[in-house]
Amino acid sequence: MAAEWDEFVDKSKNGTFLLKRQFMDYHSHRFTDCSLVVYEDNELIGLFPANWDDETRRVYSHQGLTYGGLIYLPEVTQLQVLQMMQAIMLWYIDFLQARTLTYKPIPYIYSTCAAEEDLYALFRANARLTSRGVSSVVEMDNPLKLRKLRIRGAKKAIDAGLYIDRMVDEDWSVLKEYMDMLEEGLQKHHNLKPVHTFEEMQLLMSRFPQQIKLYLTRKDRKTIVAGCIVFITRRVAHIQYISSNDEGRKNGALDLLFRHLIYERFKNMAYIDFGISTENHGHYLNEGLIFQKEGFGARAICYDAYEVELDRTVIEQMQPGIIKAPQGRVKFLDLKRINASFEPALSDAITRVVRSGWYLQGSAVRQFERNFAEYIGVTDCVLCGNGLEALTLILRAYKILRNWDDESEVIVPANTFIASILAIREAGLKPVLCEPTPETYLIDVQAAESLISEHTVAIMPVHLYGRVAPMTQINALAAKHNCVVVEDAAQAHGAKYEGVRAGHLGNAAGFSFYPGKNLGALGDAGCITTDDGELAALVRKLGNYGSSEKYVNDYPGLNSRTDEIQAAALDIKLPRLDADNERRREIARRYVEGIDNLLIQKPEMPHNEADNVFYVFPIRCKCREQLQNWLKEQGIETLIHYPIPPHKQKALSEFAGMKLPVTEQIHREILSLPISPLMTDEEVERVIAALNVFNYNVE
Ligand SMILES: *Cc1c(COP(=O)(O)O)cnc(C)c1O
Repeated sequence: MAAEWDEFVDKSKNGTFLLKRQFMDYHSHRFTDCSLVVYEDNELIGLFPANWDDETRRVYSHQGLTYGGLIYLPEVTQLQVLQMMQAIMLWYIDFLQARTLTYKPIPYIYSTCAAEEDLYALFRANARLTSRGVSSVVEMDNPLKLRKLRIRGAKKAIDAGLYIDRMVDEDWSVLKEYMDMLEEGLQKHHNLKPVHTFEEMQLLMSRFPQQIKLYLTRKDRKTIVAGCIVFITRRVAHIQYISSNDEGRKNGALDLLFRHLIYERFKNMAYIDFGISTENHGHYLNEGLIFQKEGFGARAICYDAYEVELDRTVIEQMQPGIIKAPQGRVKFLDLKRINASFEPALSDAITRVVRSGWYLQGSAVRQFERNFAEYIGVTDCVLCGNGLEALTLILRAYKILRNWDDESEVIVPANTFIASILAIREAGLKPVLCEPTPETYLIDVQAAESLISEHTVAIMPVHLYGRVAPMTQINALAAKHNCVVVEDAAQAHGAKYEGVRAGHLGNAAGFSFYPGKNLGALGDAGCITTDDGELAALVRKLGNYGSSEKYVNDYPGLNSRTDEIQAAALDIKLPRLDADNERRREIARRYVEGIDNLLIQKPEMPHNEADNVFYVFPIRCKCREQLQNWLKEQGIETLIHYPIPPHKQKALSEFAGMKLPVTEQIHREILSLPISPLMTDEEVERVIAALNVFNYNVE
């Protein structure tokens, strides 16, 4: 690995020899290394040198002479850098349970290209700047003028008999002498010690004889009066450990040395970096140092350190351009994306329930029932196990309250999800299937009227695909025949009909909070809404073993309850329902405007937009199979709501042989396009484009 790492640093865009593996290994006694390598398709594309502090659970870029930062190849794109940074941070979260990342980007002068893509990634991860070192750098292509003061200093040094020298290979006594002087100076002026001891520097210089050199100013053929250690990288000579004693200072020893290094020894480098002139984590400049370096034409560049709180949800969302990659799949409904958008509130709410020790029929259920009743505009909401049971419980309760017998009939559209019909059967009543209109897919009221018999006790309109059924006509029909109206509102959370919400348009309504519904739980849940207090109380009883007092059972009820966790989750999600529905409508409008293919029939849009919350965006196509396959090839997921009409299901064999031509045609041709509030505009455009180029020989 070390050899591969070093080779990569050589090829990279921004690596320096300081990031070579052997150098870092040398440092390893100080740090716990948690460096990472990044591969894409078995190809090494990035290195991430880092250390680990177990106590603070912090990952930090290499300190000291080794710069931090992601190292990558010249051809790596900004998008890949973003992906790499994201993958790296997620790795640290998942495998080290890291909390913080301290990141030091490699200053641009060390790059062969001035882009700093990793900085962009940092800000996407909500990084904040924690310290700033100002370094003084001479840009050799464009140097500022050497100041007169420095020229005079260099002259004075020559007059005093000072001269430049360099430590020759392995002459360790010279290094020792210099390090002693350096330490004494640092101690005296800054109360600091050099980062490296003599032994460490000796080891480094013996490992990198070509890249680390000690330059000196001497007097009288022996005494060292000033010096510095230079780290030579590809484009930069990095001057460190600058020091001069009183004698040197008096005689301009450093002026002489720097003039030599800049204008002779390293004149072919791109930059001379004098190193950092700030103290106390960048809180103030050492003005003396800055003044001196400026005199040699140096300007400021920043050595910054950033801190990132490693929050999984933030990191996951730092690159929406990638999560919504144009080449990726367009999911029918990306529940993961939807629920992630409610974090951290969603997880917090669940955690509160877990910690409360109370899991059924508690405060979260009561609170959501209140909030949902208020949202719908009814007096009562009763949570239960799911949508099927919501409808079943309403019908069972009415059966008791109104003395319906087993011959009683409920008119229900034939083209619905089977649950509507099963609920009627579960309640011991007879479903009577009614055709929809071919334009709206909603119950055909005239057809319904023709199905009314002496046994008819209820009509169950279904707000299919999110569009409200024609409730004025249905209620009028029901009133005329003394029927109850039970809305199946499982697909219409938030829809409004003439200003009134679905769920408040009949005698009672059943909702489902199945995860994929417009308002979805994290499992099963459902509820009924009604203004009929007597009905609500009976539903509550029937859903709780037919009991309103513990261990006293008045009816053979069922166990149909929403647990506290689901109620808490729903309560977090409810406030965004209207906005989410509006986004669904916006996508629907785009589909209607954008889809332009004679093979595809778009749904009729209601006159009043609020009527429809687009649980599903249904199109019709005579060659549906081919269209669905074509979209699949384009990475676009679709569903069929529903492939087999209820009257042709084995489970409902009593309807076998029944002819319902409109229903059957709809089931043959209908196809649901992806529609979710978190779909991006690009995804919508992709779906439209794929639909518009679809071509098939219908003959
Ligand atoms: C989802 C749905 C139901 C049933 O809801 P569950 O919670 O899955 O039991 C009933 N009717 C319609 C129209 C539905 O879409």
